Amino acid sequence: MRKQIAAANWKMNLTYQQGTTLLKTLMEAGIKLKENQIALFAVPFPYLEMAVHAIQNKNNYFIAAQNCSDKKSGAYTGEVSAEMLKSLNIKYCLVGHSERREYFAETNKILSDKINMCLAYDITPVFCCGENLQTREQNQQNTFVAQQLRESLFHLTKEQILKIVIAYEPIWAIGTGKTASTEQAQEMHVCIRSELKNQYGNSVADQISILYGGSVKANNAKELFLSENVDGGLVGGASLVASEFIEIIKALK
Ligand code: PEP
Repeated sequence: MRKQIAAANWKMNLTYQQGTTLLKTLMEAGIKLKENQIALFAVPFPYLEMAVHAIQNKNNYFIAAQNCSDKKSGAYTGEVSAEMLKSLNIKYCLVGHSERREYFAETNKILSDKINMCLAYDITPVFCCGENLQTREQNQQNTFVAQQLRESLFHLTKEQILKIVIAYEPIWAIGTGKTASTEQAQEMHVCIRSELKNQYGNSVADQISILYGGSVKANNAKELFLSENVDGGLVGGASLVASEFIEIIKALK
């Protein structure tokens, strides 16, 4: 069975003290993950080391960075490299969150470089893709997302693509309280998987986890995750509240 993943994205929220308390509460909840389940916490850079420490010895709990540089190293003030993340024992990194694309002008080409950097340092990229409202209203979402996949991922070999997690996040559903319907999520996840099948074949495509993101909450996670092609969620707002995220982890297949 594909890995089922509940991924928290704290974005630029919580103080160090609040973040420490949140992770402590979550760990004390003692949720035992099954072999095929993963809980992931994408925390701000300054909290990475604290977070790695907070989840140590917990099976299938991992810490992720929210971003990394497309450059290897050098005179790039303020940037954080994949190599630095690896040196902190970070195993996952979000790549291409829509907020990075929109506010930091990250293009599909830059994101393909970031993907390469992550893979070079054994970090699993959680590649985010998804359309805005206008594209959805024009019914162009499948073509749009297919292009994001093609331009950022499809240069990878079969062995490399197997190390990627994909998160479909319709921009119109992020932080808006508006969730894609189960049908809309399932339809796009099938579309993403069929793009993967065309490029890499059925057996590779069937092994890649595709998460849904966009206003996932404790009260809708179960229904969304039940869909055959939805392998968990990438969660913003609700991941900041321990009781919400605990239920979201428990909703994994
Ligand atoms: C996100 O940040 O990736 C996200 C989906 O946010 P929210 O759950 O708040 O919509």
